[in-house]
Amino acid sequence: MLTPLAHRALERDGLGPIRDKVLAGERLSEAEAVTLFEARDLAALGSLANHVREARHGDFTFYNRNVHLNPTNVCVATCKFCSFARPDDRHASEGYTMSLDQAVHHVVSKRALGITEVHIVSGLHPDLPWEYYLETVRRIRQAWPELHIKGYTAVELHFFAEKFGKTLEQVLRELIDAGLTTIPGGGAEIFAARVRRKICDDKATAEQWLEVHRAAHRLGLKSNATMLYGHIETLAERVDHMARLRALQDETGGFQVFIPLAFHPEHNMIGKAFPKPTGYDGLRTFAVARLFLDNFDHVKAYWVSLGERMAQAALSFGVDDVDGTVLEERIYHMAGATTPQALSEGQLHRMIRFAGRVPVERDSLYHVLRVHDAPAAASAGGPG
Ligand code: SF4
Repeated sequence: MLTPLAHRALERDGLGPIRDKVLAGERLSEAEAVTLFEARDLAALGSLANHVREARHGDFTFYNRNVHLNPTNVCVATCKFCSFARPDDRHASEGYTMSLDQAVHHVVSKRALGITEVHIVSGLHPDLPWEYYLETVRRIRQAWPELHIKGYTAVELHFFAEKFGKTLEQVLRELIDAGLTTIPGGGAEIFAARVRRKICDDKATAEQWLEVHRAAHRLGLKSNATMLYGHIETLAERVDHMARLRALQDETGGFQVFIPLAFHPEHNMIGKAFPKPTGYDGLRTFAVARLFLDNFDHVKAYWVSLGERMAQAALSFGVDDVDGTVLEERIYHMAGATTPQALSEGQLHRMIRFAGRVPVERDSLYHVLRVHDAPAAASAGGPG
């Protein structure tokens, strides 16, 4: 429900017609999304996004118990924003490649922790054989049959197809047969060719990224979608990015969640030129995403990238998911993220409850596993 104050603020900013379309359930145009990005009153924009969030999910806020596996950071690509990749694992001290045994042990050793999902992402290694990737999935599946295996970004899957002379369908089918159950949303960055030429010109193009997800959806795999914001892109390019995702979602319905990722400036090639995006920018990006992506069920604030406090605030700006416990994350921590290496389930509950929401543990396909609807303890606070 929009407050009279929010109605007045939206009218004052000239956003009355867009508000009316949102309240009538009508789709927003790209021009209207840019107008929302430029809105002066962040609180009023947030109220409108919150209205949509609560209409879809009420106070439910989703999370899962997950572990990350990054088997190697050796990568042949040279994305300017990347702090994770290294050119090799022989001379550079921070380059590494896990053996198959190490990769499988890294996951299977967490079994006693009640994990429900592994999230696998790597660099584009020049020498690892196809069997390495297949066996990683196969052996995890054999050792832990009920674990959800979310693995390999569209950029990696496109790389596999080219490197190993397979079609996308072959790559995906073989991984599905080995035990893969969904694919993550990374590698999307910003789709605009102008931006990709400048920040990631030697990996999958926007069209190739979208084609991988189209192929995955055709084979019945659900996937996620990300957007790296806060570097050289314009607001119109952010909207163009979301518009291309919305169009593919109209076609396939295979995306589960949209995840805006904040650019981190430490230890990469463009960090000196661009400061970390502000909290204001993050909140308006979540809000516009919630309003524009009318065919996406979920919008996620990835607390590792955003910080716990911002992720908590985002729950009033259209966000209904905070990712999960995220054991063993490397990619954002190598980019200077100062967030903890993991959050316990209790810490996630506290973050969510003190934002006035209800923590809901989900599985990787957004089935509800448990609603934690006990009231929060009566003390001031939030993420510590
Ligand atoms: S973002 Fe991915 S593809 Fe690009 S350099 Fe980093 S690890 Fe490689």
